Amino acid sequence: MLPAVAAAESNSALTSALRQFHAAADRLGLGGQQRDILTSFKTVFQTRFPVEMDDGSFRVFDGYRVHHNAARGPLKGGVRYSPDVSLDDVKALAMWMTWKCAVAGLPFGGAKGGVVVDPRAVSANELENLTRRFTAEITPIIGPDQDIPAPDMGTNAQVMAWMMDTYSMGHGHTIPGVVTGKPVSVGGSEGRYEATGRGLLYLLEEHLADAGGVRGKRIAVHGFGNVGGVAARLLQRAGARVQYICDRDTGIWNPKGVDAAAAFAYVEAGRPLADWDGAGERIAPDAVLEADVDILVPAAREHVITTANVDRVRAPLIIEGANGPVSPEADDALTARGVTIIPDLLANAGGVTVSYFEWVQARQYMHWREQQVNDELRRLLIDAYRTVVARAVQAPNCTLRDAAQSIGIERVVEAVTLRGIFP
Ligand code: NAD
Repeated sequence: MLPAVAAAESNSALTSALRQFHAAADRLGLGGQQRDILTSFKTVFQTRFPVEMDDGSFRVFDGYRVHHNAARGPLKGGVRYSPDVSLDDVKALAMWMTWKCAVAGLPFGGAKGGVVVDPRAVSANELENLTRRFTAEITPIIGPDQDIPAPDMGTNAQVMAWMMDTYSMGHGHTIPGVVTGKPVSVGGSEGRYEATGRGLLYLLEEHLADAGGVRGKRIAVHGFGNVGGVAARLLQRAGARVQYICDRDTGIWNPKGVDAAAAFAYVEAGRPLADWDGAGERIAPDAVLEADVDILVPAAREHVITTANVDRVRAPLIIEGANGPVSPEADDALTARGVTIIPDLLANAGGVTVSYFEWVQARQYMHWREQQVNDELRRLLIDAYRTVVARAVQAPNCTLRDAAQSIGIERVVEAVTLRGIFP
């Protein structure tokens, strides 16, 4: 149904997202009008804004905030700071958020934001100035009932605290529900920081329940930030052997197991993985994707597995910590080889699930204990996993990704249909 992109490799996250959408829409028998509605973006906000740098000069930055579909509730999605983020990336990520929230059963639509900046190349003061100005720019289209940003690649709890403060100053009172992923001391949730990595662990334990869980499994983790670093640490703690880790500059291989907890503590303190002196051979970051392990966790960014390297990917099980790490063409090749992929829509939904809990707590001025957060996280994710597996088993030639896409899209179609078209 999307011939323009079907022939060549999907070379952007947006072509991948649209290809996946139309494949699911074909399976669901959606008509042209439904496809038009579901591939439309409710709001595409683009801004260029100046920021004062430490030397007194001004630099102009590009920023984006995209709302995809709000039929199921307020819009939810992260803000990415990256030198190569594009409007098309942000659109793809917003669309994936819509399906992900629906698969996880959360009352949200999908959004995403981005600023073209390398956060490592600016000072903390410059990052704060940039964040506050970007927040002021998007203030008319965000809000606790409207659109609730969260951290993504290159942003963190501190950035969320600045966003919450800037938005609150503009409204004359503190509004903790406007963003999630804040520090706990300013209304964040226990367990949010670890939620995406913890979700990966819960899902792997469930998926491997008949195979002894993750204990003793050999693991490779590509990307060592919030998602990959936390996942590696929790997997190690659960008894897995994390043999490979990497960030964008350095890979580390240790057949006996890298001390992921020590390495991540080092990185969390703001130091580069390259300077960590723990045991392990230094390798190229992308060699991690080709590791001979039981489980591969791509947790860096989209399109790291494509037709260029898919033949060298050896893990029989891939769980997608990142959004869109496998191109649709590579996905086809892996499926043909019998590789199981636990797809992003399900695999990394732990983050937005605990963001939902944080939003609920903020709106009620309540504070949940970490155990309560983790228990609810496990319950919602395992429910979603079982629903996706049941669908995949029922339908012929249906992968877990096909099933997750179909369930997410179907739920949004139901909401769109029930609400009808205004006026
Ligand atoms: P982050 O900025 O905390 O970490 C990103 C990590 O990936 C860093 O270690 C970075 O060095 C590494 N990296 C970047 N490019 C790389 C490359 N080309 N090769 C190898 N490593 C590379 O970001 P994050 O929040 O962990 O997000 C990672 C991915 O997970 C993104 O796709 C994001 O959309 C997705 N995600 C994040 C969350 C969340 O809660 N943070 C939730 C769901 C999905």
